[in-house]
Amino acid sequence: MKSLDDLKGWLIDLDGTLMVGDVLLPGASKFVQSLRENKYNFRFVSGTTKLSRRSIAERLRSLGIETDAEEIFTAASAAAELLKTFEGIKCNFVVAPELLEEFKEIESSGRNPDYVIIGDIGSQMDYEMLNKAFKLVMGGTELIALRKNRYYRNSEGLQIDAGAFVAALEYSSGKQAKIIGKPSRQFYNLAVHDIRTEANQRWLSGEFAMVGDDIEADIKGAMDAGLVGILVKTGRFNDSYGEHFGIVPDFTFDSIVELAEALSRK
Ligand SMILES: [Mg+2]
Repeated sequence: MKSLDDLKGWLIDLDGTLMVGDVLLPGASKFVQSLRENKYNFRFVSGTTKLSRRSIAERLRSLGIETDAEEIFTAASAAAELLKTFEGIKCNFVVAPELLEEFKEIESSGRNPDYVIIGDIGSQMDYEMLNKAFKLVMGGTELIALRKNRYYRNSEGLQIDAGAFVAALEYSSGKQAKIIGKPSRQFYNLAVHDIRTEANQRWLSGEFAMVGDDIEADIKGAMDAGLVGILVKTGRFNDSYGEHFGIVPDFTFDSIVELAEALSRK
């Protein structure tokens, strides 16, 4: 039986777990406080491919959670970590302008790049951009997708997501994109690596937990990568639980409130 007591590092989903829209969920501040009091290493994990870690940290601070960009982990920071390990590579970025700051250590080039990196750029996506990316992929450039979500919901209802454009490129080129964001195993491996490096520890994957509201992206993804999966029944829980993929989370809490209580009892 897994125990919360054995955990060394935590990954904490933001939307639907700690917050909904621009409002913190009850217990969110207390939970983060418990992590700090217990001296855990952790990262806030966001599925967005539109915002930089800097602006996610600003958003959290405006809600009263003290943090900085170093404590945030996103698909873009995961991709940047991975790309940095390949010496001398060049990439073509099809991402929101703000996201480019995550890739400032990587050479950007539209000519014979090694990789095309695609994220969500919302209504700015157009035929020219897709066609340029398509031509690069046909010329041998590898395609990396920061996410492949079908759609998302905002205040104006359902919106088509970057996954549809990734699928378009895959369809036309006959090649598969490498997906870096949740629920890919690589995303979780890179997040764990980020914490291990900071803590200078060799903790095992099973000593890390992922806390989230999405049974597929958060729980299945993390458990496939060997992490402890902790489901909270807020946010997307009701949408996603219908398709629970046969996944039984290691722990389930009604919300972050109950998890914060379990941690503070330690
Ligand atoms: Mg979520």
